Amino acid sequence: MTAVRVPGLPIVEAGQLISTSPATGVEAGRLPIATASDVRQAVDRAREASEWWAGLGFPGRRQHLLRWRALLAQRIEQLAELVHVEGGKPVADAIVEIVTAIEHIDWAARNAGRVLGPRRVRSRLILAEFSAHLEYQPYGVVGVIGPWNYPVFTPVGSAAYALAAGNTVVLKPSEYTPAVGQWLVDSFAEVVGEQPVFTAVHGLGDTGAALCRSGVDKIAFTGSTATARKVMAACAESLTPVLIEGGGKDAMIVDSDANLDAAAEACVWGGMTNAGQTCIGIERVYAVDPIFDAFVDKVVAKAGRLTVGPEGADIGPITMPSQIDVIRRHIEEAVSSGGRAVLGGPSAVQPPYVHPTVLVDVPEDSDAIREETFGPTLTINRVRDADEAVARTNALSYGLGGSVFGRRRAVTIARRLRSGMASVNSTLTFAGMSTLPFGGTGDSGFGRIHGEDGLREFGRTKAITRRRARSLLPSMTFERTPADVARLVKAIKVMYGR
Ligand code: NDP
Repeated sequence: MTAVRVPGLPIVEAGQLISTSPATGVEAGRLPIATASDVRQAVDRAREASEWWAGLGFPGRRQHLLRWRALLAQRIEQLAELVHVEGGKPVADAIVEIVTAIEHIDWAARNAGRVLGPRRVRSRLILAEFSAHLEYQPYGVVGVIGPWNYPVFTPVGSAAYALAAGNTVVLKPSEYTPAVGQWLVDSFAEVVGEQPVFTAVHGLGDTGAALCRSGVDKIAFTGSTATARKVMAACAESLTPVLIEGGGKDAMIVDSDANLDAAAEACVWGGMTNAGQTCIGIERVYAVDPIFDAFVDKVVAKAGRLTVGPEGADIGPITMPSQIDVIRRHIEEAVSSGGRAVLGGPSAVQPPYVHPTVLVDVPEDSDAIREETFGPTLTINRVRDADEAVARTNALSYGLGGSVFGRRRAVTIARRLRSGMASVNSTLTFAGMSTLPFGGTGDSGFGRIHGEDGLREFGRTKAITRRRARSLLPSMTFERTPADVARLVKAIKVMYGR
């Protein structure tokens, strides 16, 4: 075991990528770094395997995926421990993450055939002599690039759906969590040993860039908006389609008729689970004036009880050491620009930990409101009413998720949020609902994982028409006569002219 100077910071040594625990600095994993040519070879092997995997059909793939799901369920504690050691995440948070991933594998495996398989669709009168057929065929090889903050949930959210759709997958895990990525592909290989259907390549950002240029048929990227731009630029060179799950700055709105105890409980969990390092984490809260003070008191009481530390605590270390400076800057700027820390504050930053921090009255133009903080921090600002809360929530270019607490107007407010997802009277729950699509808008990206849309994301749409009778009004042929065209004009006026 190697102890390192900056715990959590990955080390590159003799062609190996070594990940380390952000809490202790102990080595968590050691994987060979893939060169651009290694990446290309991995994709070539995956392409050869894709014919076999696609050939299994939906029932065959379903069987294999359900066996993989079972293996993950049986080994959930082992995987949670690895997630904990490599990323610092509390074991209980890791368990919840893996449970969600297992649910997605199950749903994708069971529903891919229904959603993507060949089916007839209705013909219209204008082409009634043809039948219409639709199916979603696999792309071939999908490259999945994942972040470190949910090293099981995020890659599985893309990979399970891509695999169920009949693609093979090459995963590039984050340099902070390569061992978890390798664990996933190794466990898959235990149930699908015949061919390299799901493999991983390791390294820094340039390995991800090499994957974008490796000839894959689609890239599913999850990570920051800044990297998403680079991924899109690289994929543009070969017109490789991309799915972007980018960053977020999700808000929670607390309306006047909300259950404040439930809202405070969900707010603290939504903002501080995984030490706040959650793309769909609650970072900003807008509470309406009549309940503002009571709500803040409840949040402070609940957040103040959270424990912080390496083992058995509610809040673990910040995974990426460089993020600590961002969190510190956001807190300091919020306080120096007129905000107040009602819990924690600048002194809460004690690397590698950040203690729960609640900031109120933070100027809307400060970075704590506008940029991803990714720490166990919340800003809570007072608003006149729900309309002002919606306007402030929608003022940012991010649009990932969001939450609304209230009774009468809550669903209407949720629908008005400029985001891909929202949860009413809960936080983050849409991520675990495998029947619902997951993804954002604006700087949070485009395309969807999860649910039916998530399956279709990994299928190439194929539309087929088939003649079933002679054409009564031949038009798509040079054999048509002027009389046929005249009859067509007459028919169209009867059908659509009123
Ligand atoms: P990054 O954007 O830094 O990295 C994401 C992945 O991209 C990593 O595997 C990284 O490799 C890789 N990468 C880096 N540079 C390139 C490049 N030029 N070309 C291709 N790939 C590259 O994000 P983080 O890992 O820091 O993750 C946190 C971010 O992810 C946050 O913004 C968070 O909101 C977002 N996120 C979004 C989710 C969503 O579903 N919308 C879910 C979870 C997180 P390496 O690590 O080796 O640099």
